[in-house]
Amino acid sequence: MDHFRRIGALRRKLTRAGLPGLVVTHLPDLRYLSGFTGSSAALAVTRRAARLFTDGRYTAQAAEEVDAAKVEIVSGAPSVAAVQWLAAQPGVEMAGFDPSWTTVAELTRWKAALPGRLRRTFLTALAGPLVENLRRVKDEDELALMTEAALGGCRLFEHMLGFIRPGLREIEVAAELEHQARLMGAEGMSFETIVASGVRSALPHGKATNAVLPRRGFVTLDFGIILGGYCSDMTRTVFLGRPKAEERRTYNAVLEAQETAVAAVSSGVSCGEVDEAARAVLRREGLAEAFSHSTGHGVGLEIHEAPRIGAGQTTRLMPGMVITIEPGVYLAGRFGIRIEDMVVVTATGGQVLTPAPKALIEL
Ligand code: ZN
Ligand code: ZN
Repeated sequence: MDHFRRIGALRRKLTRAGLPGLVVTHLPDLRYLSGFTGSSAALAVTRRAARLFTDGRYTAQAAEEVDAAKVEIVSGAPSVAAVQWLAAQPGVEMAGFDPSWTTVAELTRWKAALPGRLRRTFLTALAGPLVENLRRVKDEDELALMTEAALGGCRLFEHMLGFIRPGLREIEVAAELEHQARLMGAEGMSFETIVASGVRSALPHGKATNAVLPRRGFVTLDFGIILGGYCSDMTRTVFLGRPKAEERRTYNAVLEAQETAVAAVSSGVSCGEVDEAARAVLRREGLAEAFSHSTGHGVGLEIHEAPRIGAGQTTRLMPGMVITIEPGVYLAGRFGIRIEDMVVVTATGGQVLTPAPKALIEL
């Protein structure tokens, strides 16, 4: 990963924002910029220098992982040290921080650690996210990891098709999936695995429970693995037994919505337009009310990151962004269906990273 290039890109953004310095505390942002994967650190960036502050537990790890910033081991809070260091840099009369990732308590501590004359003026909340916006567009190294993670997810799904059967508990299904993921080399799951069967498939976030898979009904699997820090995310809904006409029709409506939205993905298209592509199909089928969430989200070091693929979102897609397309239909007390792919935006369209089968599978 080219951390020098990333910090360079951040500096250009800081210059444009009129900020001589920035303190970064959100760990995925910090990892993106510096390579550091520990759980306690802060990064300070000025136009000339970058310094990572962490504690003694991470001396060896930071030396190994961090290339584009100097490392300083501190005994107190790393973020306080970072703010104090910034305030001591010549020409740095002000430093930005991301208010989305700063608690009131933290800000109070930072101010208290500054010399009196700087307390009121030195720290300034960013008007919009800087690092998060850089992270939206993935570079080649990131795309390679995400492609591998996505394909790993597809292999897991294929495996699960041979495992899922009526009578199993949802948590047994989740346990098998997660066990195989670890054997495959996953560092972890992107989020708590969703296995929602029968009437529970109508819960958009039905985490695996003790519920027993029915003889007939939908089973939704929504899961992802982490490779090299990067998350994959996919959903498939399969059917146990023989679906009735309405179940099949509803499944095909969700599939059409999903494929229509995937086809709408292209550089320059707004996120709202992609959302509307999915929503229009379900509206036509009388299922608009049953589609109760947005169409997708950016994915990368975090499972949910910018951009959001939702109604009215004006952000335009750019080549290298990786987003999910995951429309769903949820009929409370009856059944639910969701289909989700990861898609990388290209200059001319979108490339699906999760090529697992989507036509209705009957088990
Ligand atoms: Zn998902
Ligand atoms: Zn998702």
